[in-house]
Amino acid sequence: MTAYKIIDHTYDVVVVGAGGAGLRATMGMGVSGFKTACITKVFPTRSHTVAAQGGIGASLGNMAEDNWKWHMYDTVKGSDWLGDQDAIEYMCREAVPAVHELEHFGVPFSRTPEGKIYQRPFGGHMSNFGEKPVQRACAAADRTGHAILHTLYQQCLKHSCEFFIEYFALDLIMDPDGTCRGVMAWNLDDGTLHRFRAHQVVLATGGYGRAFFSCTSAHTCTGDGHGLVARAGLPLQDMEFVQFHPTGIYGSGCLITEGARGEGGYLTNSAGERFMERYAPTAKDLASRDVVSRAMTVEIREGRGVGKDNDHIHLHLEHLGAETLELRLPGISETSKIFAGVDVTKEPIPVLPTVHYNMGGIPTNLYGEVLRPTQANPDATVPGLMAIGEAACVSVHGANRLGTNSLLDIVVFGRAAALRAAETTKAGAAHKPLAKDAGELGISRFDRLRNANGSLSTQEIRLAMQKTMQNDAAVFRTSKSLAEGMQKVGEVAATLPQIRITDRSTVWNSDLAEALELENLMDCALATITSAEARQESRGAHAHEDFPNRDDVNWQKHTLAWVEGGKVKLDYRPVHTYTLTDEVEYIKPQKRVY
Ligand SMILES: Cc1cc2nc3c(=O)[nH]c(=O)nc-3n(C[C@H](O)[C@H](O)[C@H](O)COP(=O)(O)OP(=O)(O)OC[C@H]3O[C@@H](n4cnc5c(N)ncnc54)[C@H](O)[C@@H]3O)c2cc1C
Repeated sequence: MTAYKIIDHTYDVVVVGAGGAGLRATMGMGVSGFKTACITKVFPTRSHTVAAQGGIGASLGNMAEDNWKWHMYDTVKGSDWLGDQDAIEYMCREAVPAVHELEHFGVPFSRTPEGKIYQRPFGGHMSNFGEKPVQRACAAADRTGHAILHTLYQQCLKHSCEFFIEYFALDLIMDPDGTCRGVMAWNLDDGTLHRFRAHQVVLATGGYGRAFFSCTSAHTCTGDGHGLVARAGLPLQDMEFVQFHPTGIYGSGCLITEGARGEGGYLTNSAGERFMERYAPTAKDLASRDVVSRAMTVEIREGRGVGKDNDHIHLHLEHLGAETLELRLPGISETSKIFAGVDVTKEPIPVLPTVHYNMGGIPTNLYGEVLRPTQANPDATVPGLMAIGEAACVSVHGANRLGTNSLLDIVVFGRAAALRAAETTKAGAAHKPLAKDAGELGISRFDRLRNANGSLSTQEIRLAMQKTMQNDAAVFRTSKSLAEGMQKVGEVAATLPQIRITDRSTVWNSDLAEALELENLMDCALATITSAEARQESRGAHAHEDFPNRDDVNWQKHTLAWVEGGKVKLDYRPVHTYTLTDEVEYIKPQKRVY
């Protein structure tokens, strides 16, 4: 029996996470008449979505002709043919109504002189099946995520959704038959533990950038949903695909949006050469992110980096003029001043590829239902459990996400989850009694860590993990680096039982919160490096120097990784090589050039 005070709650739906994905789902569940709670460890408008700068992709065609089928083609090509084309069709088709919906909710988009939503070019978004760059990124200056997140929060309040703010989700409550029945959470403010029962639990906990040493994501991006799922005995998918954004500020890792290159910015090496013209003759600086990050890394490796150590690259915006910079890129002008000491109207910004986005995550179908794949049924689902947003892997991004497609993913699939729940779940339906030990997994983990009395601090273990991931699961990988990385992450993971928590309090104990997060991060790191070590090809963000080509015969398949007790078991499931409707045909694998 537990010594903790447990407070019980009963809802139709519990959403974990209040980023763009969680808020869109919460709002949709409220509209569908469900009694809905949204649990979040940070105040909703502090979720990482608030930091998204560049835009949300949709083929509105406000600047020039565009078509959702071109958007679909670009997304499939961007994914390097690992994305599921039924899901990609759904997302790109729904993008146009999704953005109009956001406009009506009140998102203050930038405008064209005629009053239409302003759209800018972004990497990998082209017209007419890859011909030339198109302006598809709908933007609110360079603060698009901020605008969307605040608007969605207002909408949730309008629909009377209930929020549990600064509650930390610990673990899922799973029935022995494999049904998800709810989630355990810790109230950071008063130290109480809470048992939330629900017919549907929706995980919208975001990515796990913090498994790496240098990343653009918030300190809260710790893969908590991934950890919850792994501990429930469910697999994670395609975790080897980690996106490096070409332009993190050298040193701090703060993001300079790709919209900066969309507005006409370009990269140079130490010779002042615009080198992207050699690597991607058509799209140049607006090639897909993996392509640009690799090109930059090659330039640096071959001795053409800038700075006294020749270890980074310059991003030029000076030629755009102070007026455009002030109108279109005010936020990054400020960020560059603070974090690089650079006046963007006069000098280039020092940049370096930096971990930015996780294509992999909790496997779901296009309705947001979490998968428990078996050999007999690779698309089998887990009753009562959904996942959306960066935490999930639908998979629309495959091996490499195009910029602007994540803000799109979070609103489209946040909405899809609510629509699906309305079909599968009855509002107000009676709950089956919970098993006697329901929630014990979360409580015992909380208690174990709270009393942990080993010899290593959370920070020491975390740093060792982050450094290893940064070095061994980098932009370029080799059999040697991955094998060593796997061994080293395994060794670091084995030190977790030696963790020491100095504060025994249950109230605002950041030491304990960080330890809980570290366990989740470690599962992500183990799944990532193990999945990467196994994949003997190069595809999208996974650039393997010993296997430089894509191998569709053997590797056009999703990796599944089960993490248990520091060990990882791998299996695979087929990519969906079919579309959702007959309006488009399956796009067959081609050589990927920009
Ligand atoms: C700097 C930056 C710029 C970006 N720019 C763009 C862009 O221009 N266009 C684009 O398409 N994409 C962009 N992206 C990517 C995109 O913003 C993210 O992928 C997306 O916003 C993720 O949304 P989300 O709702 O899934 O998660 P998040 O916004 O990360 O929200 C996660 C939520 O989960 C909650 N949570 C997590 N763990 C727990 C727990 N244990 N208990 C309770 N709550 C928990 C958090 O409190 C938070 O509310 C950018 C990303 C970054 C980092």
